[in-house]
Amino acid sequence: MAWDFETDPEFQELLDWADAFVRDEVEPLDLIWPHLQYTALDETRRRVVDPLKEQVRRKGLWATHLGPELGGQGFGQLKLALLNEILGRSQWAPIIFGCQAPDTGNAEIIAHYGTPEQKEQYLRPLLNGEVFSCYSMTEPQGGADPTQFTTSAVRDGDDWVINGYKFFSSNASTSTFLIVMVVTNPDVSPYQGMSMFLVPTDTPGVNIIRNSAIYGESDGHGSHALIHYDNVRVPNSAVLGGEGQAFVIAQTRLGGGRIHHAMRTIGLSQKALDMMCERALSRHTAGSLLADKQAVQGFIADSWAQLQQFRLFVLHTAWKIDKYNDYKKVRKDIAAVKVVMPTVLHDIAWRAMQVHGALGVTNEVPFLGMVAGAAVMGLADGPTEVHKVTVAKQVLRDYTGTDELWPTEWLPGKREAAQAKYAEYLELEVGNL
Ligand SMILES: Cc1cc2nc3c(=O)[nH]c(=O)nc-3n(C[C@H](O)[C@H](O)[C@H](O)COP(=O)(O)OP(=O)(O)OC[C@H]3O[C@@H](n4cnc5c(N)ncnc54)[C@H](O)[C@@H]3O)c2cc1C
Repeated sequence: MAWDFETDPEFQELLDWADAFVRDEVEPLDLIWPHLQYTALDETRRRVVDPLKEQVRRKGLWATHLGPELGGQGFGQLKLALLNEILGRSQWAPIIFGCQAPDTGNAEIIAHYGTPEQKEQYLRPLLNGEVFSCYSMTEPQGGADPTQFTTSAVRDGDDWVINGYKFFSSNASTSTFLIVMVVTNPDVSPYQGMSMFLVPTDTPGVNIIRNSAIYGESDGHGSHALIHYDNVRVPNSAVLGGEGQAFVIAQTRLGGGRIHHAMRTIGLSQKALDMMCERALSRHTAGSLLADKQAVQGFIADSWAQLQQFRLFVLHTAWKIDKYNDYKKVRKDIAAVKVVMPTVLHDIAWRAMQVHGALGVTNEVPFLGMVAGAAVMGLADGPTEVHKVTVAKQVLRDYTGTDELWPTEWLPGKREAAQAKYAEYLELEVGNL
């Protein structure tokens, strides 16, 4: 009987430490340096951030998503999930713990598919927390459907020359390298004709045209780049995982990234629920506490139940990833987690906002940011609708249709079969009358 819902006491101690550390030391950074977590450290920030990272390293909690040979702890996804729930409360926390998106996913694929030279050049500094990276896949004319991509790389002697546009390449302007997905063979199916390239961001021809800003980022300080790759020349050694392997690699990368977002979303949703409960127990109106109003009790109960379901779903999916060590075997679960995630965060944040009244919609509390975050979760790493298609297709694989006119569970047919099966007993019953 191997089912178990307990965290081993030693790891729980580390989680308790992380919880206090994030609240006391890291969450304040969100307030003094908002949205600067992906920007290279200046001298002042370095004096605060480096010692915090050092504390995390000393606790053995740095970059826990990767194995020891790569500088991580090899804890696996389940332990990472428990840790990420805590980190999800804060923008800066994933950086301080060396496990921030999109760098985790990027590190994972370089670890998996990179050559020793690529690992030395890109992975090591990434894992040391010295640099940031960017995943450059979406194009202006097509995001959800990668078969629409037109950015291409053409062979020129020993080099490749990349041309085209990429949209919403997050953190491109603060990254030291980009992982770019491009067409390398237009004559075969896109599933075999696309490749990934590792491109230093300062390569001539990498032109960031603009950085789109989303809610919470001020105009002119967005972090989602439209990039023109204009005759960007890279050597053949820049290909990641071999020519034509982009789809296979993307699946590995996005699988990990999606579940990590879900883990952090648990933490953010829990923060909204905590705030809702505190407010409900503090605010008096129309003769009683908000906590005594049935409607507010409904908000709290629905939110708690929704979060509990989501949390167990994420933890079970993380457990399955560790068990199978193969994202393909957990594709349905990850896609379904991705589908549920925006609704959970949206609903809980929205209710918490409502319970806070006018204060709830101000920028003095984080709810509107959370609601916007939920909208982002419904798009980044693929829209909800596309993931629903994946879930449905995977679920349907376990079923077959029937050639019969009536469904297999059609009761008159089943009743007739049951009566035939137990006919002799039914005859006895009649005889006893
Ligand atoms: C905050 C943020 C950060 C991002 N960071 C990155 C990044 O770092 N790198 C990167 O490459 N990309 C990034 N993206 C882009 C993201 O991956 C795309 O937005 C996403 O894949 C959708 O592509 P699109 O925006 O072109 O929408 P479209 O493909 O135009 O889809 C628009 C809508 O059409 C509907 N739709 C599309 N296809 C289907 C379908 N098959 N069935 C039913 N309905 C469908 C959905 O409702 C969908 O929302 C980021 C996006 C956001 C919001």
